[in-house]
Amino acid sequence: SAELERAESLILEIPDYPSAGILFRDITPLLADGPAFRATVDALIAPFRGTFDAIAGLEARGFLLASAAAYASGTGLMPIRKSGKLPRPAAGVGYSLEYGIAEVEAHADFPRGSRVLVIDDVLATGGTLAAAHEVLRMLDYEVAGTAVLFEIDDLGGRDAVGDPRLHTVFRS
Ligand code: 5GP
Repeated sequence: SAELERAESLILEIPDYPSAGILFRDITPLLADGPAFRATVDALIAPFRGTFDAIAGLEARGFLLASAAAYASGTGLMPIRKSGKLPRPAAGVGYSLEYGIAEVEAHADFPRGSRVLVIDDVLATGGTLAAAHEVLRMLDYEVAGTAVLFEIDDLGGRDAVGDPRLHTVFRS
């Protein structure tokens, strides 16, 4: 749609952030525009209507999209957090980054067997989303699908995630 085309134009490319050689996609101008933000969140969840019971969002920018998507679809929300931030026992999965390692964790607050739609802002190497899926499986949830605002498509992220229902609104 025209609204989505305009939304795409609001994603900025920032060279050499956070380090040399990285082209960072900055989505804050898109978030700042009401109609663009709404059209983007609607497009994120549209293919999954009726197929999920709950939504999980990745810290930190994934939270912004997942929260709006959960409100729009009337489902509950699970924050999948970086390690060490949750107050109760949590399932955790480690994964490797370009430099070093990281871990994501989540509480099991949805009913067992819930079909969970996973949302993040940007798909790069896919390590973050693959770890999120592993956390959901550890907690006995079903991954209903994966929805990402922007896919950087020359880093192999789609294969690393391995979800046939991966849906991305914009891509490079
Ligand atoms: P991956 O694990 O796929 O390599 O990296 C994806 C994670 O890093 C996402 O949670 C995303 O927020 C962040 N990320 C990586 N590259 C970018 C980028 O260019 N722009 C933004 N906004 N986030 C990025």
